[in-house]
Amino acid sequence: MLFALILVLVGCKEQEKTNAEIKEQADKKDEIKEEVKELTIEDYQNNNVDELGEVPIMMYHGIHHKKNSETEYTGGNVDKNGYQRTTEAFINDLEFYYNEGYRMIRLTDYVDGNIDVELGKSPIILTFDDGLSNNIKVTGLDENGNIIIDPNSAVGILESFKEKYPDYNVTATFFVNGGLFQQKEYNQKILKWLIENGYDIGNHTYSHVDFTTVNSKKTSEEVGKVYELLDSFIPGKYVNIIALPFGSPYGLEHDNMNYIFNSNYNNNTYETKSALRVGWKAESSPFSSEFNPKFLKRIRAYDNNGEEFDIEMNFKLLEKSRYISDGNINNVVIPEYKESILNVNLQRKLIIY
Ligand SMILES: [Zn+2]
Repeated sequence: MLFALILVLVGCKEQEKTNAEIKEQADKKDEIKEEVKELTIEDYQNNNVDELGEVPIMMYHGIHHKKNSETEYTGGNVDKNGYQRTTEAFINDLEFYYNEGYRMIRLTDYVDGNIDVELGKSPIILTFDDGLSNNIKVTGLDENGNIIIDPNSAVGILESFKEKYPDYNVTATFFVNGGLFQQKEYNQKILKWLIENGYDIGNHTYSHVDFTTVNSKKTSEEVGKVYELLDSFIPGKYVNIIALPFGSPYGLEHDNMNYIFNSNYNNNTYETKSALRVGWKAESSPFSSEFNPKFLKRIRAYDNNGEEFDIEMNFKLLEKSRYISDGNINNVVIPEYKESILNVNLQRKLIIY
């Protein structure tokens, strides 16, 4: 009997404690709520929030360990057309994007409309084509068998920015061919390391084919063979996005496009959700009626004295047209005058101001 009474008393005490805890938790929640209080129209105005603004998708190829003065071409270009870039220029690009209020997001998140950057900041996407060894150069393995990355390769430089700016979400998508990163003994470890460290791998066709020069069967094979290869190393962990070699075909109406987006190879079917073009300017917001994920423009990351859609020219244009976030991934916040270009099938909470 006494034993039972004690149990009841202990039970009550437990109950009291729990109630006190619940109240404490509720108070804490209120405090947090106050901290992340709803933004006002004034906040949107002060930050020029515009989630129907444009998003730059930067197109890089090789990053070469050189100073700009060591090349015979304009600015940080390593070749005549500026597809290859110096390490000096690439570091300056990253500092520039950061200082201009751009924050990196994953290409696949952009395509899916998951844009997670702070209030007043703008998204930017980095892409690298061709799987060149200077994208992620491995110099050996440490005592634990982990890859050692050359600090002057693209990923080495990106990783140093991760340390320098903790609020700079460092990420990029690498589009590879059959040779992956041209480092046979390390390719598998490289792919695994990249996806484990916030980077993405996409498809650039097995042999860098111009789709307008081959038939539908070859088109399917060129796409499927890369997915098959990636499945053997990082099953299901790559992105189903293709960067079109030479930016070809130039139009979605080309007959081979169907085989690019739906490829049959080796008794498997592969679906591709987006195709990336070559050049020349920023893309629409994923919430715009003009947005077409099947065919996305990129900005060539090169220098041309502020002309011909080089980096300088594009970012000048973006000063007036850029996407500016409200800092809330679930809301789409747009100024009233943009309402006419809003995608009507928006799956988010819409705020017009
Ligand atoms: Zn290429």
